Amino acid sequence: MWRTVAWVLAVVLVLNIAAQAQKGTKPKPAQTGPKYICLMCKVGADKQGKCPLCNLQMLKAGVYVCTGCGAMADKPGDCAQCKKPMVKLASLAKKCKVCNYYSDKNKKECPVCEYRKKTKPK
Ligand SMILES: [Zn+2]
Ligand SMILES: [Zn+2]
Ligand SMILES: [Zn+2]
Repeated sequence: MWRTVAWVLAVVLVLNIAAQAQKGTKPKPAQTGPKYICLMCKVGADKQGKCPLCNLQMLKAGVYVCTGCGAMADKPGDCAQCKKPMVKLASLAKKCKVCNYYSDKNKKECPVCEYRKKTKPK
């Protein structure tokens, strides 16, 4: 009887180790960028809400913005108003580790953290 219990325990232990080894090799999900963005400040977030900088409602990412007048559309092409090309806001790929907001990958400092530092009450 006791021999069987010990054998079962040994099998469970081995299975646990195997499961943990498999977890370690799991590939990471691909970086997809922010789901919501503020067009005014060029910051992004994973969930819908207000922009931390200008307090405007953030828009769903994937919209196209006119380079001339700032009008928005959900597909590429020329602006209906000023005929300038629409561009997709896809450069917001840098995610801040502190505040979890996205910002332009060419920017050195996170605009959200910078803003919070400046407006911090003493
Ligand atoms: Zn904003
Ligand atoms: Zn336009
Ligand atoms: Zn930040």
